[in-house]
Amino acid sequence: MKPILEIKDLKKHYPVKKGLFGRVSGTAKAVDGISLTIDKGETFAIVGESGSGKTTLGKTLLRLIEPTSGSIFFNGTDITELGAEPMRKLKTDMQIVFQDPYGSLDPKWTIRRTLEEPLRTHYSLPAQAITEKVDHILEVVGLTPQHALRFPYELSGGQRQRVGIARALILEPKFIVFDEPVSALDVSIQAQVLTLLQDLQSRLSLTYLFVSHDLSVVRYISDHVGVMYLGKMMEVGPTEALFSKPLHPYTQALISAIPQSDPDKRSERIVLSGEVPSPRNPPSGCVFHTRCPHAMPQCRTIQPEWQQISEDRYTACHLYNN
Ligand code: SF4
Repeated sequence: MKPILEIKDLKKHYPVKKGLFGRVSGTAKAVDGISLTIDKGETFAIVGESGSGKTTLGKTLLRLIEPTSGSIFFNGTDITELGAEPMRKLKTDMQIVFQDPYGSLDPKWTIRRTLEEPLRTHYSLPAQAITEKVDHILEVVGLTPQHALRFPYELSGGQRQRVGIARALILEPKFIVFDEPVSALDVSIQAQVLTLLQDLQSRLSLTYLFVSHDLSVVRYISDHVGVMYLGKMMEVGPTEALFSKPLHPYTQALISAIPQSDPDKRSERIVLSGEVPSPRNPPSGCVFHTRCPHAMPQCRTIQPEWQQISEDRYTACHLYNN
């Protein structure tokens, strides 16, 4: 498959300000040197605990947050080099769906107005064409023209998330970032929305970046997984291979914590000591060394290289040094 997105050494660092006059006293490395490739038509999931940088990565890919350095190639074009107008045009191809549809929908706007707005911003279409497009996209996400008359507070959580998906789809994008799209929903509604996303992907040839902390959802929906910790990528691999044989000690700990109903599949839970350190003051060497059960002396001082372990599997850990 051909890549739709290639990220090279992407960084997003924030100045940390302190004191009455906001003196810069350091740097928070929210995204710190991430490189990865996403193929057309796949779902690439990014997992990690809160503070791992996964949401910042998703937003930086769309330049909703400007990167500090690095490249983002979308269909071969480095979008970090684009000015405001070409970037505005490209945004029809790259969309985002947020975790909280209630927070991301204007409460004073009807659903129809919410869905018309992107069309009016990006195209000059006759009113009839806009109405037809809105009606069509509502049907695509399983809603009706009657829903278009309502306000967000009149819809259920699942219906609101369908509106969020419709708003992303209405510009006919190729690539969509989903930022925890089902974590605010009940489990039964989660399943419906995930099935809808899979159906839309195959019908419309979409590529997804799926940001989530929920490993069960990620295992269900994704083709590849990237595991982030303190702004760095720990491991990338095909979903089933990564879940059945995780390479990195952090991935091993995350997967050991997934509840298993089948007693034969239960493995011993790896409990990590301590809390995730602050990205304002990340540990030296391997950023995971303060919590890693396999930490060695060199882990405290030497940052592990990103290395290919086998076909399509990558990790950054001294345990795999040749
Ligand atoms: Fe653990 Fe060292 Fe590997 Fe980091 S490099 S994950 S500390 S073994």
